[in-house]
Formats: sequence, structure tokens, C-alpha cells
Amino acid sequence: MSVLLTGIGELTTNDPTRDGLLGLVEDAAVVVEGSTIAWVGPAAEAPAADTAYDAGGRAVVPGWVDSHSHLVFAGDRAQEFAARMTGTPYSAGGIRTTVAATRAATDEKLTSHVARLVAEMRAQGTTTIEIKSGYGLSVHDEARSLAVARQFTDETTFLGAHVVPSGTTPADYVELVTGPMLKAAAPHARWIDVFCEDGAFDVDQARTILAAGTDNGLRGRLHANQLTYGGGVQLAAELGLVAVDHCTYLSDDDVSALADSGTIATLLPGVEFSTRHPYVDARRLLDAGVRVALASDCNPGSCFTSSMAFCIALAVRDMGMSPAEAVHAATATGASALDRDDVGVLAVGKRADLVLLDAPSYVHLAYRPGVPLVASVWQGGRPVVPVA
Ligand SMILES: [Zn+2]
Repeated sequence: MSVLLTGIGELTTNDPTRDGLLGLVEDAAVVVEGSTIAWVGPAAEAPAADTAYDAGGRAVVPGWVDSHSHLVFAGDRAQEFAARMTGTPYSAGGIRTTVAATRAATDEKLTSHVARLVAEMRAQGTTTIEIKSGYGLSVHDEARSLAVARQFTDETTFLGAHVVPSGTTPADYVELVTGPMLKAAAPHARWIDVFCEDGAFDVDQARTILAAGTDNGLRGRLHANQLTYGGGVQLAAELGLVAVDHCTYLSDDDVSALADSGTIATLLPGVEFSTRHPYVDARRLLDAGVRVALASDCNPGSCFTSSMAFCIALAVRDMGMSPAEAVHAATATGASALDRDDVGVLAVGKRADLVLLDAPSYVHLAYRPGVPLVASVWQGGRPVVPVA
């Protein structure tokens, strides 16, 4: 069964064989066969298909690839946010509030909560989502958090090393994370992550935890340099990790290390918005040759947005990215940050994940911040928003 999606005013392909960063095609069409893309090009040259769908001149972009989220949690920290906006600084210790609520929640409650957030993301155009554990912090609660996440995505990340929970020492906890907790978590996870930060885990602990994960078949990624300068970004570069996330406080040596290693800097501007930390100078990174991805970091503490369009608007307004760079970072480079080559690009053989915008151009994502521009979302070759 093939579908011709035609009448696309402006198509962002991210196809490097086409012109410009976004590989734009005007007056375009796409043919979808099953779950993948069979043809892309000018509408006037499109081949016939079993059925046709008219995009009505809308702009079409690849579905967002949100490579960083923490959706498995219970509880609400709205009051902490309100206090922060009136002067109380953010600290990593707030995570423990969510841990208590998450441990107390049933599997059913956690699952329905993740389902609601995934639907919220999909309605805004996100078609690939990474989900971390990290609010269980016990063998049982980390394993079940990942089992819940696995129902929604293959991109699951074991973040037992989110913060040292109350009632244990850092040394004992690292032993637990690298031992029984890792054994219980690994069957449900593809990635392992560490919050490498003052008040969480230092560079040596992060190195130990990532090595244990690698030994158990997981791939490493890292939260680093979110709240202070530190050695986390250089550790990620040294280990050749695919991505290091946050990168808010970067020395010149950190930037050079990222450029030399090819490790992607995943920037999370919603966090800076929600914690009043300074926005990352993405221009500095891009000009140095660093690959930059954008993700939501949707979580109950430091950033509770699920909107990639909001992150794009912030990246353009406050981080020195062009609209094209921000859209590319939220799609193609987001996919690279998950080491995926089947999503984030609209080309023959790629997964047919795409978003129709009620706008003539992708630029409207930043030009019209906060406006619900998503007309429909296709995931795996079929429309999933609005729900048929
Ligand atoms: Zn995070």
C-alpha cells in the first residue's frame, strides 16, 4: 500500500545530497510505502501511488527526535518551580523529592503517566523519544522504571547514577549501581547515563559507572557541565561517547575536546529557561565545528516542557542558532545523538516520520513561538495525529 503525500509547500529533508543544511524542496511530494519513504522530490515529477493525500501547501519537516527525557516519574514539583522563579536556586538534590513519589507509585500509575506524556509529545510532532530511568534509585525501582519506558521506546537509558539517594554513602551507592542495579536494569536498557555534577557524581565515579555499563552491553552518554564547570564534557570526549548533554558551562578546552572527538553536544534550552541559568552559546560550538543537537530534557524538576518547537524557538532567540540550524539539531543531529540513521531525515529508505505544519515554512517554528502549528503527524508511514 503506497501513499502519495503531495501539495507540500516546503519540504525539509535533511538529505545531505540536496542543497543547504536542510535539503529543502519546494512544491514537493513524498511517496510512503508501508512504514518507509519510497520517493522524495518535486510534486510535478511524483510517481503514482495507491492513494493520495494533499498537504494543502503546508511545510513538512521530519518528526522531532527528542534524545533526552525523563518521563518515568510521579509527583509534581510546580511549587519548587514557583519558588525558583522568585529566587530559590536550582540544586540537584531536588531529584530526591521525585524519587519518593516514584517509589510510592504503582506500575500502572507510572505507565499511564508516561503514556500521557508520550501522547503529549507526539501531538507536538515528536516521533522518536529517548526515556531515562533515574527516579527509582533502588534495584527494584530502576528496573521497573526501565520496563515501563520500554513499552514506549527502544531508546531507554539506565540513569541509576542520577543522585545518591538518602540513607547511603556515595561509595556504597556506586557499588550498587555498577553491580546488582546494573544487572537488573541492563535487559531493559540500550544506554547508560550518569549525572556528572557537583552534588551528584564526580568524574572518577562517572568513569567507573560508564565502564561497568559498557561491560554489560550498554552504550554510554552523560549529563555534564549543567550547573558548574567540570570534567564531565572532557570525559565524554575522551571516551568517545556519542553525546554529552547540557554543556551549559564550557571552557575553551571543553569546546576543543568536543570538536576533536565528534561527540555531539546535546543542548537543552528548556532547562536554562526553567532554572534561569545562562543559555549556552551554541554559535560558539557550531563555529568551532562541534555537532549540536537539541532535546527537551522533559522532567519534573529542572524543565517540564515536552515541546521541541519551544526548544527550537529558544535556541534561535537566545543561543545564536539560525532557524535552519535549530531544526536540523532537533531532527537529524538528534537522531545521530541516538546513533540512529533511520530517522531525522526524509529520504528513500528512511522511516516515514513527518510533521505537517500550519505554516508556509519551518522558520515559523521560531517566528511564531508558543503557537500550535502542528496540523498532523505521521509516524511509521501513517497519520497518528490527529487520531483517526
Ligand atoms: Zn536530563
